[in-house]
Amino acid sequence: MAVLAYIELDNGSPKKTSLEAVAYASKVAEQFGTEAIAVSGSVSDDLSKLGNYGASKVLQTSLTEISASTIANLLNKVVEITNADTVILPKGITTDLAAALLTVKIDASIGTNAIELPNFDNGFAIKKGVFSGKAFAEVTLTNAKKVVTIKKNAVELQATDSEAIVDTLDFSPETSRITVKEVQKQEGDLLLTDADIVVAGGRGLKSADNWNIVEDLAETLHAATGCSKPVSDMDWRPHHEHVGQTGINVAPNLYVAIGISGAIQHLAGVSSSKTILVINKDAEAAFFKSADYGVIGDAFEVVPKLNEALKNA
Ligand SMILES: Cc1cc2nc3c(=O)[nH]c(=O)nc-3n(C[C@H](O)[C@H](O)[C@H](O)COP(=O)(O)OP(=O)(O)OC[C@H]3O[C@@H](n4cnc5c(N)ncnc54)[C@H](O)[C@@H]3O)c2cc1C
Repeated sequence: MAVLAYIELDNGSPKKTSLEAVAYASKVAEQFGTEAIAVSGSVSDDLSKLGNYGASKVLQTSLTEISASTIANLLNKVVEITNADTVILPKGITTDLAAALLTVKIDASIGTNAIELPNFDNGFAIKKGVFSGKAFAEVTLTNAKKVVTIKKNAVELQATDSEAIVDTLDFSPETSRITVKEVQKQEGDLLLTDADIVVAGGRGLKSADNWNIVEDLAETLHAATGCSKPVSDMDWRPHHEHVGQTGINVAPNLYVAIGISGAIQHLAGVSSSKTILVINKDAEAAFFKSADYGVIGDAFEVVPKLNEALKNA
């Protein structure tokens, strides 16, 4: 019995969403009186620090290709070795698919997009947003083995001084049935999914040439930049910045939406944000209904003034 947490690295360090997967696994392990083991498909000197978030051990290996099927094969192998019954993965495009593949391999129940720790009152129930975040559902996982993907901020991070033991696993995945043709690395220092603040722009910004006001504000706030789907479809911004139902799910402490109407498909990707500030010239824009703060005004006047004020503050 053990609880596994799959972790992803960015420049050799675990991503914040992976630290949350470890913390989540550790809380579940605590409940069942067992240990949390972190599993990494890449090797790094930083992995012992996962002990800070509750992992007793880290199993690292060097996957030549990180794809959903190699991750699923790796986790399947570690489930066998450790006799783990629960596997936690941070939500993501590749990890969501890996979780589904693993679920079939180990005959597990799967709970996706958990937004908080499980409710153990009546078994093992996870809470998730449904209908594009408009409602919540509690899903009870009944199989002996369980796979859970968690959304950002599903658990609060509290670091301790503990260090984890790091072991290297001898693992060669079976031939993958998925061929990775190209890997496009996200530009910039801040990952959209990890950022505490996101400044996003929509079609209201009129053209790619006007993105400087979004970038300037993002720089002042140390924020990542995002955009609505039409903006990336028109190549004003790269596709990895597209936020929403068909793009990236973000859950920052602050989401600043500039010139975005607030269509339900966009809101689906931002509804877990702690605070939402909307800047839109149309007082009737749907986004204002989901906003904590709103400014009705022209983005080209409001955003530079806001940026100036923040710089002076
Ligand atoms: C199956 C499906 C999936 C989809 N998935 C996604 C998704 O993942 N993400 C996503 O974003 N969309 C998605 N969409 C598209 C979505 O329905 C909307 O069309 C899209 O979000 C609108 O983008 P927008 O708000 O940037 O543009 P618009 O709807 O054109 O809104 C522009 C806004 O800017 C405001 N504005 C204009 N000028 C100014 C100014 N000078 N200052 C301030 N405000 C101004 C306007 O008042 C308006 O509210 C999806 C659609 C479908 C059908």
